[in-house]
Amino acid sequence: MIGIVSAMPEELAAVVEAMHADEVVEYGGRRYYRGHYGGEPVVCVVSRIGKVAAATTATILLERFSPRALVMTGLAGGVDERLAIGDVVIADRLIQHDLDARPLFPRHEIPLLGIAELPADPALSTKLAAAASRFAPPAEVVALGITAPRVWRGLVASGDQFFGSVEASNALREALPGVLAVEMEGAAVAQVCYEHGVPFAIARVISDTANHAAAVDFARFLRDACGPYARALVEGALGS
Ligand code: SAH
Repeated sequence: MIGIVSAMPEELAAVVEAMHADEVVEYGGRRYYRGHYGGEPVVCVVSRIGKVAAATTATILLERFSPRALVMTGLAGGVDERLAIGDVVIADRLIQHDLDARPLFPRHEIPLLGIAELPADPALSTKLAAAASRFAPPAEVVALGITAPRVWRGLVASGDQFFGSVEASNALREALPGVLAVEMEGAAVAQVCYEHGVPFAIARVISDTANHAAAVDFARFLRDACGPYARALVEGALGS
């Protein structure tokens, strides 16, 4: 079985529609859709937004359903200036940009875990990247001006903050050179999986470029474009 997590209902709706759910288990205010997708057993859940919501949801998913791997899909703000709206970022590692226990621990290090960056599963990430490369944008995505989305692999930063200004993005780039994209859940899910020894991969579609237009771009992308991406990515992650 594979666990599939998104932060917002709109990010998961197309996947839940395409799967066959045998049961819906409610726990801790979340609905876990257990069933199969194209023959593969899956559990899908909306975590809600932010690190605590994502970590608690991921923990319950692992404890109650024992998936062999976990996949998270959703949207993110592009921080690297080469990224465009509609590009796909596959995290090869994740970091909590808002974790800072200095002077007791180096900035970004997870206290008592001894690392700052959480590595995603390379094989599962490669499957997601392959699915993203094959993705042919349907009309509703092309309507947003996205015709040839590119696929990136690298560092994704997570924290309890929506990035909606150039100043905030510049500060993040300075604190974490090399960061591709910013979102609010990935590193939390990554930490839970890492500590439980469960392979995970995280794919994020760039909905905005974390600047002053971010809130408007994000809302439009969420409404019009995230469904086809989510399905393509999840379908790519399934199968052996
Ligand atoms: N305005 C929304 C809040 C969405 S928060 C509402 O009213 O519900 C943004 C969500 O998308 C988070 O789950 C986060 O992971 C991701 N995301 C997309 N763009 C982002 C950005 N620029 N900064 C931070 N997170 C972003």
